Amino acid sequence: MNPTGVYAEFHHRSIHDRDAFWAEQAKLVDWHTPPQHICDYSNPPFAKWFLGGTTNLCHNAVDRHLKDRPDQAALIYVSTETGIEKTYSFRELHAEVQRMAAAIKGLGVQKGDRVLIYMPMIAEAAFAMLACARIGAIHCVVFGGFASGALASRIEDASPRLIISADAGSRGGKAIEYKPLLDEAIKLSAHKPEAVLLVDRGLAPMTMVAGRDHLWDALRLQHFGAVVGCEWLEANHTSYTLYTSGTTGKPKGVQRDTGGYAVALAASMKHIYCGNAGETYFSTSDIGWVVGHSYIVYGPLIAGMATLMYEGLPTRGLAGEANGGIWWSLVEKYKVTVMFSAPTAVRVLKKQDPALLAKYDLSSLRALFLAGEPLDEPTAQWIGQSLGKPIIDNYWQTETGWPALSVCNGVEQTATRIGSPGKPVYGYDVKLLDDQTGAELTGANQKGVVVIEGPLPPGCMQTVWRDDARFVNTYWKTVPGKLVYSTFDWGIRDADGYFFILGRTDDVINVAGHRLGTREIEESIAAHPNVAEVAVVGVADPLKGQVAMAFAVIKDASLVPDDKARLKLEGDIMKLVDGDLGAVARPARVRFVTLLPKTRSGKLLRRAIQAVCEGRDPGDLTTMDDPSALQQIKDLLI
Ligand code: ATP
Ligand code: MG
Repeated sequence: MNPTGVYAEFHHRSIHDRDAFWAEQAKLVDWHTPPQHICDYSNPPFAKWFLGGTTNLCHNAVDRHLKDRPDQAALIYVSTETGIEKTYSFRELHAEVQRMAAAIKGLGVQKGDRVLIYMPMIAEAAFAMLACARIGAIHCVVFGGFASGALASRIEDASPRLIISADAGSRGGKAIEYKPLLDEAIKLSAHKPEAVLLVDRGLAPMTMVAGRDHLWDALRLQHFGAVVGCEWLEANHTSYTLYTSGTTGKPKGVQRDTGGYAVALAASMKHIYCGNAGETYFSTSDIGWVVGHSYIVYGPLIAGMATLMYEGLPTRGLAGEANGGIWWSLVEKYKVTVMFSAPTAVRVLKKQDPALLAKYDLSSLRALFLAGEPLDEPTAQWIGQSLGKPIIDNYWQTETGWPALSVCNGVEQTATRIGSPGKPVYGYDVKLLDDQTGAELTGANQKGVVVIEGPLPPGCMQTVWRDDARFVNTYWKTVPGKLVYSTFDWGIRDADGYFFILGRTDDVINVAGHRLGTREIEESIAAHPNVAEVAVVGVADPLKGQVAMAFAVIKDASLVPDDKARLKLEGDIMKLVDGDLGAVARPARVRFVTLLPKTRSGKLLRRAIQAVCEGRDPGDLTTMDDPSALQQIKDLLI
């Protein structure tokens, strides 16, 4: 089948003339030695990109821009937690990164050593990541909101020579001490780091361990004029490892390369995000997540953009005042052109007055990108209408490192479709497979598992850290007799090639022989005007196999003052589902809560809700945000 249209042809070439396509994209970054071989897929499913080429992520993010834009903003740091607002030019960033690199080297870290970064959203966290990349050390960033248990298991898995941390994080103006959590985690872990480097923000006292702990302030002064060159690294040198969110179970240590990642990010900035050098990019994520790696630190900087790094709640201003318009005021002030956030953050803002958005001059902003979880229609419509800008849903995973489904307006202006994260991105050979037979589904609107044919494009995971077998068995062996990467998400593709993600493959329930996606039921319930958010899980039922249970957060709690009104609302919601999906999908109960159990990255923990509903142990909850949410559900069940 010959593709028609500029983008379709672009995508076709990326798959069928792979090496030529990616050789061209590789020119978007600087190489010390050009790649000798574009893609080596002689040992599937392990793909090696840009073999023999040497480059450096930090060089591409920082040093490369010193020639043309030394005094332009590179890192704009804003903390509504501490009131700090500071801009670093490329020249200043270059100096800070070299100081950090010298300090890290001075603490014994060499190329290939792991450096675990457990830090709040402070500029030093970005310096640390870039410094590691500069000297070829592998960074392992652990989300700063995790407590000792989650941290300990990651220290053990990564076995870092050095840990970089801080005295404290801050949330809603309250200091959250990191140092005691870190000390406890090191105690719990069988692996002990040789050194710990600490940034003292002056938020909490620290008890230093003599001989092991060092203060950044002192080392920074010691290395103030440091000149540390970039280590030229073979393209397949591991740049970092990062754990998945752990929504479905034990997090996996995703390992990423250097050259492929640099090229993938540079290309995505051009073709997907359409960000230009000299402009400002604002991603509201956290460095602890993949979005933070790709689109707070590396992507925008590689493109020569300033990146806005934000610490704080979306509802609090610089003086600590309640301010639901803070993000938009930053868009106005720093003339942000590209913004990236998550549906969960938009749902928080949705509870604010939409007039807040109208107060700011958002004329610089071209688009808002959202990713991380399904973007429900009401949320998409609300933010689209309030902003008056294109909302671009993009679908990807920690494993892919950059979008797998999106529209690529940098290649060809493409209309978005509500509820769809778009079409397969160039480089991704995305297919839908029948989960029972493994057969490819080529028709329109057929529901299947979203898979990607190997080789995965540049920038995707190389393997699971220190566990090639887990990489192969977890991701590539779900279809008997076929080596294909499973995303573990359900999807359909419409007649025009737009994909719709229907939820995770383990979120399917079986009611009296009917297989239903909990996501579809959620989508239906979310359309109710009084529902802000909802989670649906399948619960074991002796008669029907499973029944759906819904937990909904009500927008206006005062509307359901008594049991009668609650019952009416429950009935209304059931009717809504009956009308949309049929009575078989109707939840057995709709319960009302004020909060849903989520991971710290804002993803629904359906697995934990289901376990609680079935009276089972919810398992590892170390990455859960607010335990009281699960308690609410427990209490409702009694
Ligand atoms: P774990 O794999 O450990 O269970 P996780 O899958 O939540 O954790 P991430 O890699 O952070 O970890 O999340 C990727 C997943 O998020 C995707 O597989 C998909 O389920 C969901 N997702 C991401 N973006 C979108 C989107 N635009 N639309 C729908 N779902 C999305
Ligand atoms: Mg996952």
